[in-house]
Amino acid sequence: MTTSNSDLEAPKTRNGPSNFVREMILRDNETGRFGARVHTRFPPEPNGYLHIGHAKSICLNFGLAAEFGGKCNLRFDDTNPCKEETEYVESIIDSVRWLGFDWEDRLFYASDYFDQLYAWAVQLIRAGKAYVCDLSPQEIKEYRGTLTEPGRESPWRNRTVEENLDLFERMRTGEFPDGSRTLRAKVDMASPNLNMRDPVMYRILHAEHHRTGGKWCIYPMYDFTHGQSDSIEGIRHSICTLEFEDHRPLYDWYLDQLGIYHPQQIEFDRLNLTYTLLSKRKLLTLVQDGHVKGWDDPRMPTLSGIRRRGYTPEAIRNFCSAIGVSKTNGTIELSLLEHHVREDLNKRAPRVMAVLRPLRVVIENYPEDLMEEMEAVNNPEDASAGTRRVPFSRVLYIEQEDFREDPPKQYYRLSPGREVRLRYGYFIRCTGVVKDEAGRVIEVRCTYDPATRGGNAPDGRKVKSTIHWVSAAHAVAAEVRLYDSLFTKANPNEVEEGQEFTANLNPTSLEVLTGCQVEPGLRGAPPFSHYQFERLGYFCVDPDSTPERPVFNRTVGLRDTWAKIEKSQKEQVG
Ligand code: ATP
Ligand code: MG
Repeated sequence: MTTSNSDLEAPKTRNGPSNFVREMILRDNETGRFGARVHTRFPPEPNGYLHIGHAKSICLNFGLAAEFGGKCNLRFDDTNPCKEETEYVESIIDSVRWLGFDWEDRLFYASDYFDQLYAWAVQLIRAGKAYVCDLSPQEIKEYRGTLTEPGRESPWRNRTVEENLDLFERMRTGEFPDGSRTLRAKVDMASPNLNMRDPVMYRILHAEHHRTGGKWCIYPMYDFTHGQSDSIEGIRHSICTLEFEDHRPLYDWYLDQLGIYHPQQIEFDRLNLTYTLLSKRKLLTLVQDGHVKGWDDPRMPTLSGIRRRGYTPEAIRNFCSAIGVSKTNGTIELSLLEHHVREDLNKRAPRVMAVLRPLRVVIENYPEDLMEEMEAVNNPEDASAGTRRVPFSRVLYIEQEDFREDPPKQYYRLSPGREVRLRYGYFIRCTGVVKDEAGRVIEVRCTYDPATRGGNAPDGRKVKSTIHWVSAAHAVAAEVRLYDSLFTKANPNEVEEGQEFTANLNPTSLEVLTGCQVEPGLRGAPPFSHYQFERLGYFCVDPDSTPERPVFNRTVGLRDTWAKIEKSQKEQVG
């Protein structure tokens, strides 16, 4: 479902005074700068799938435009033909739509501006502000200097305008091999800002571009493209992450030298999440080396991955709004994201019963040929969701962990002689067990009390536990995939010397349960639909499902188990 900017209700980015980006826009609107118009853009490079970090930028840019009745463009910064692919463009478009945003007719590509950028490069050469340099990439690095030492000027810095024009033209027509020459801006090799030390504007790359094909064999650098693309599109507030703060003087320099319109760049903090990596390069490694099943593996922090996992656009937007923006980079707890997922799914996910590790229960005094339909509430949080009928019969499945032959203290679920309530069913009492040759319990024998239909005893007697179940004859066999975090370390980049980040991969991040039994209403459940399996957590139907055999991904547990673990650890220590 997509929503146009103007349809988005409550402005999700309203974070009060702490949102300095919004404050800046408010100030500009008051002073009438930019004609009080808001125009932002989200500028991904199509070299991978979008991740939850990008969602923060998307929500900020599209959210501000929506809040102020402005516009937000989607622009692909596609200046690097070697790493970019149409597959990525398509997935990015899908993901931004899925998050609920709409760029209307403003889908742009930096590659659309290659002719203009080339003309601007020529303009800078004519003005004596750019030169063709014959240093190799390695030499350019060496000449560049360091933070404490100024750089050295290239021996090619003082070529004449004519020579530069001639060489640049011949670079374009393909006369020179890759890496043999560059076009550089003539700024200041002694600048304390390394970005200003005669940055490269164009490099030679004899490579096909996913949009311009073989038209070009020189490509503009990102830094020579980004500010001008914003300028061409009339962007008012160019909102980007903090690492671009040091690039702003260069963007400003280009715009000044070219004498073209200046957007206002504003930098904010990148999202980092515990137990998660948000770098397209590293995510690509995970995909290419087969550590995950693909970009949309439900363990991936990509938007396509977390969608498949069962996270909702609403939850992600709420999360992004809750974390706000700031001027210093930090790390957000993964549990905060999960909290927002849980909160959203609690409102929308229908409740169903599913048994992940089945144990057979036979109710000895229940008629063999009887089937009753028990009325069950679909969502206690949403009366309009109504009720459904769930079949009940003599043979049921319950969770293995809901029965103990030798119950420890504090264990109130089913055990020999103990009576429990079956959710929406009857009270049952365990009368015995059947074991296999190895001594394992393979069946629990029970009796039921027909007077307790619906879950209450007329004589007022109580049970301490309510467990879920499915009717064996009616249940649908299913596969359930349980996920744990992909990394074992809160900071997956923290490695011993000589190790790669992959050393921190969690070997048990995926557990597949193939023998699950779910209530019959889940037969044919459409992919990406959400459910709460009572007592177990939130689950989402995987596209691997077939109509006869649904496959579910566990989205998130019902409670924040991590907080619980931390609490119990603290208690042990204290
Ligand atoms: P990566 O390091 O994952 O490759 P990137 O910054 O190179 O990310 P781009 O495609 O250039 O990826 O990003 C598009 C926009 O999204 C940029 O404006 C960038 O600042 C923003 N962005 C990327 N990662 C994050 C993040 N973790 N948090 C917030 N914004 C981000
Ligand atoms: Mg980038």
